[in-house]
Amino acid sequence: MIDLTITQALQKLKSREISATELTRAHLERIEKYGAELNCYITITPERALADAAAADARYADACALPLDGIPIGMKDLFATRGIRTTAASKMLENFIPEYESTISQKFIDSGTVLLGKTNLDEFAMGTFSKTSFFGAPVNPWQLQRRLTAGGSSGGATSAVAAGLAMGGTGTDTGGSIRFPAAITGLVGMKPTYGLCSRWGCVAFASSLDTPGPVARTVDDAAALLAAMAGHDPKDSTSAKSEFTLSGALPEIECKKLRVGVIREFADVQVSPDMKALFDARVADLKSAGAEIVEVSIPNILDALAAYYIIAPAEASSNLARYDGMKYGLRVDGADLLDTYKKTRAAGFGDEVKRRMIIGTAVLSSESYDVYFMQAARVRRMIADSFAAAFEKCDLIVCPSSAGTALPLDSDLSPLEYYALDMFTVAMNLAGVPACSVPAGLAQNGLPLGIQVVGPRFADMRVLQLARHIETFAALDNRPTTVMGK
Ligand code: GLN
Repeated sequence: MIDLTITQALQKLKSREISATELTRAHLERIEKYGAELNCYITITPERALADAAAADARYADACALPLDGIPIGMKDLFATRGIRTTAASKMLENFIPEYESTISQKFIDSGTVLLGKTNLDEFAMGTFSKTSFFGAPVNPWQLQRRLTAGGSSGGATSAVAAGLAMGGTGTDTGGSIRFPAAITGLVGMKPTYGLCSRWGCVAFASSLDTPGPVARTVDDAAALLAAMAGHDPKDSTSAKSEFTLSGALPEIECKKLRVGVIREFADVQVSPDMKALFDARVADLKSAGAEIVEVSIPNILDALAAYYIIAPAEASSNLARYDGMKYGLRVDGADLLDTYKKTRAAGFGDEVKRRMIIGTAVLSSESYDVYFMQAARVRRMIADSFAAAFEKCDLIVCPSSAGTALPLDSDLSPLEYYALDMFTVAMNLAGVPACSVPAGLAQNGLPLGIQVVGPRFADMRVLQLARHIETFAALDNRPTTVMGK
C-alpha cells in the first residue's frame, strides 16, 4: 500500500477496495520500522492518525468523502497544530503546544487528510541539509547505508515521502527548502507563487520569501496537495486573492505551441556532468515534443545568492526577536530582564540561527543599511523585473534544481559553501514566481537529480503541467521503497 500514489489511493478508497484505516496502519507500521533510523519525524501522532482515518472511512461509507479523504500525510513541524507540539526543530520551541491551527494544516483537516506526525527540518527552516535541527538530521532513504542528506530545510518531509513513511507532505520554501530536498530524494517539490498559500500560523523565517507548498511522489499528487493548500486567507495580509482549483487530473500541456526558456547566465554555473547531461536530455525531449527552446537573460541572477543572504537574515533577525522567554517557548531566568533575554536566547537558539540573526542585525544597522540592505533590495527588484521581461519571450523556463546529487551528512562544508548550494533556487523566491522541481533522472552514482520548471506569477497550473510532461521522460527505477523492502 505504501507504493500507491495519492491519486491511485483515492481511487481505491472511493471504490472501497482499501480503507483509510488500512492505509494509515500501513504507514504507521512503516514509521515504526524506519522512523527512528530515518529521523524524519519529530513528533508522531498515531492516535490522531487512526481517529482521522476512522472519520474518513465513515465519510466514504456515507458517500460524502472530502477531496483528500483518508490520505496519510506528514506536516512540516513549522506549521502550528492545535494541541500538538510544534517545535520549528528548535530547543526554543521544544515544548511549545499551540492553541491554534495554522491555515495550511486546517485546510488539510478540511480536505480529509490523516495526520501521521510533524516532520523534521532545519532549525527555523534555516539550512540546506536539515542538519541544524535540534533533533538531529533526517537521512535520505536513497542508498541508506551511505547516510546522505535528504536536503533542507524540508528534509524530514522528503525523507518520509521518499521512503513511504507518508504519501505526501508539506514544506516551506524561503530560498529552496522544498525544491532542493525534493530534487535529491527523487520527489516532486512545488514552490507556489508567493501569496498563493497562506503563511498564517506558520513559524516565520523571512516573511517576504516564505512560501508553503507540497512535497509528493508525482506531479499529479503535488497538484492535488496544492489544490488543498491554496486560496485566499484574510488572516495573512500578503495572501493573494487567487485560487488554485483542480477538477480531476491536470490537463495535458500542448508542447507544440510552447516557448520554453533556458537562462543564459546559468550556463556559466558549474554543475556536475550528470546534471548537465540530464538537463540537456530533458531540454532535447521538449524540443522533439515540439516546444521552441529560447534563450532568455536574467542579468543579475548570479547576484541572487548575495541578495538573498542579506534579505533573509534581515527579516529573520526581526521575526525571531519575539523569542525572548516572555510569551512562549524556552525561558531561562537571569538576574534581571535583560539578563533573562540574553540567557534565554543564548540557550534556545543553535549556531546557524544565531549567525543569521547577527548578519541580519548587522545589515539593518544604520551604518550598513544603505550599503547592504538597500542594495540587496534593488538587486531583488531587478531580478523580479528580469523574470517578468523573460516571460514576454517565453511561456515557461527550465533550469537545474541543484548542481549535483545528495552529499553525505557528514560533509564538512563551511557556512558559505552551504549557502552556495542554493544557487539555482533563491532567485525564484526573490521574484515570487512559482517553481517546481521534478525528477530529471538518475546520475551515474544511482542517485536522483531534478530540474525546475519556472513560470510567471500565478501560472502555477502551467508550471505543474509542464513538470508532468517532463516527469514522463524520467522514469526513476530502484525507488527507496523497493530497495528498503516492505
Ligand atoms: N538554504 C536556504 C537557507 O538556508 C533556504 C532555506 C529555506 O528555503 N527555508 O536559507
